[in-house]
Amino acid sequence: MSEAEEQRWVTVMLDKLAAQESKRVLGDDELAERAARLSAQYFEGRARPTSVRWVTNQNTRWGSCTPAEGSIRLSHRLQGMPEYVVDYVLLHELAHLLVPGHGPRFWRLLEAYPRTERARGYLEGVVAAERLPHPPGARGD
Ligand SMILES: [Zn+2]
Repeated sequence: MSEAEEQRWVTVMLDKLAAQESKRVLGDDELAERAARLSAQYFEGRARPTSVRWVTNQNTRWGSCTPAEGSIRLSHRLQGMPEYVVDYVLLHELAHLLVPGHGPRFWRLLEAYPRTERARGYLEGVVAAERLPHPPGARGD
């Protein structure tokens, strides 16, 4: 293999790995770990969920939580979305463990996360795309 070929091969393999990595679904343990890291980074570790898991019965909401139990559920529809979007939804539910409802105090908590606006825009775009008469990716005319 020439050096140029080798370089090309390495690039192709790295791209493949990156693509696999982004499609990989986090396990529930990894979700809990991620929640703990986000809580530490943005909420000084004050939000302490007792469980974080994926659910498939949640089609109109991206995430939900039961503050009394400290449990967080994320819709499986988030799987395959960019990491910063999943992190935003996770952080959103973590914030609800600290502040119920969507008042100014709640959004002030989320301002600490630099991609809040971008993630909300992404999710709004997903919902809007589903409502188009010809959704992107649909077959036929
Ligand atoms: Zn909320």
